[in-house]
Amino acid sequence: MDEVKGSLQELRRVGLHRKLRLVEGPQGPRVTLDGTEVLLLCSNNYLGLADHPRVRQAAAEAAERYGAGAGASRLISGNMELHRRLEVRLAEFEGTEAALLFGSGYLANTGIIAALAREGGVVFSDELNHASIVDGCRLARAETQVYRHADLDHLEWGLREAGNRPMVIVTDGVFSMDGDVAPLIGIHELAQRYGARLVVDEAHATGALGPGGRGSVAAAGLSGAIDVVVGTLGKSLGSYGAYAATSAELRDYLINTARPFIFSTAPPPPSMGAALAALSLLESRPGAVEQLRRNGAVLREALDGEGLDVGRSRTQIVPVIVGSSRLALALCERVLDCGAFAQAIRPPTVPDGTARLRLTVMANHRADELQRAAHQIGRMARELGILQPARAQLRSAA
Ligand SMILES: *Cc1c(COP(=O)(O)O)cnc(C)c1O
Repeated sequence: MDEVKGSLQELRRVGLHRKLRLVEGPQGPRVTLDGTEVLLLCSNNYLGLADHPRVRQAAAEAAERYGAGAGASRLISGNMELHRRLEVRLAEFEGTEAALLFGSGYLANTGIIAALAREGGVVFSDELNHASIVDGCRLARAETQVYRHADLDHLEWGLREAGNRPMVIVTDGVFSMDGDVAPLIGIHELAQRYGARLVVDEAHATGALGPGGRGSVAAAGLSGAIDVVVGTLGKSLGSYGAYAATSAELRDYLINTARPFIFSTAPPPPSMGAALAALSLLESRPGAVEQLRRNGAVLREALDGEGLDVGRSRTQIVPVIVGSSRLALALCERVLDCGAFAQAIRPPTVPDGTARLRLTVMANHRADELQRAAHQIGRMARELGILQPARAQLRSAA
């Protein structure tokens, strides 16, 4: 049998095969999935901005005015007025000197880490960091040291061992599969003490944490104090693309060394126009951030009340940890039959033995629909034997 057929068969056998489902219409709190209307519990369109009328309008106007594509890399001929305007706004939003756009968060992380972590240096990466950070470390010429999740002692031990080699620490602000928050104050202190550069990925924190949704860095009181803050335009900001918020000097360095910036077409004008409009909406409506936070708490409490294991979640990302990939898939299908879509997440996206449903709320979900979904998940988990009925009863009686 050939290699491709063999791998596909093996993936199916161990419950790790992935397939695409078709979503019709915009990413709202409810969508039509493979023909049926369901409650959407796995979109990162946290604030509902991807389908907000003003954001759509801004994308359409940018397309009319500047065209559908940027035509080239920024360094060739693709550097447009919209890119510059958005960078100025993003730097203001993040409280940094400057910002630099990338094609996506994936490209930003791979490019930035490879540019900063040079030969002879060491890059320290949390074991639960996003795959794009893992790949950035693989591309970097520096040695990679993975530290235990959010473990400051382990990180410090590594920093001490590294002596006076150039060092970079990189961490998610909010961890994408667990919904917990990095101990940024402690990490920043260590970075200062050992002279390491610090990169924080705010993909799931922007629009969700901190004053005005400015992210986990702002929530920790560290605005302007982190070497590079990476943000995506594709999640809360409802568009596509990403940015590094940093100093003017590091921006200049990245323009000259980050390969995904140099060798890839500039982000398209409609996405830039949409992101500008989304930023304005975020800034003018802090209530949406508060609503997202409340919805996260509602879902977490409801799932916990069912006796389900929501891990360390503290944000709008709430996992239901199941263990085996097969059970996670089965639970996903059962819940879908009840009318709610929460994607099953399996290794290698999460560590072996921690397959889960990963639920995300949006600001425009209603509390009662989140509670109903939590109840259905609890019921299905009991039917599948994931949850002992006794434990659930004990918990709800407590
Ligand atoms: C989604 C995500 C990215 C990638 O961002 P895109 O703009 O979607 O490429 C990077 N880091 C983290 C933590 C993410 O969750």
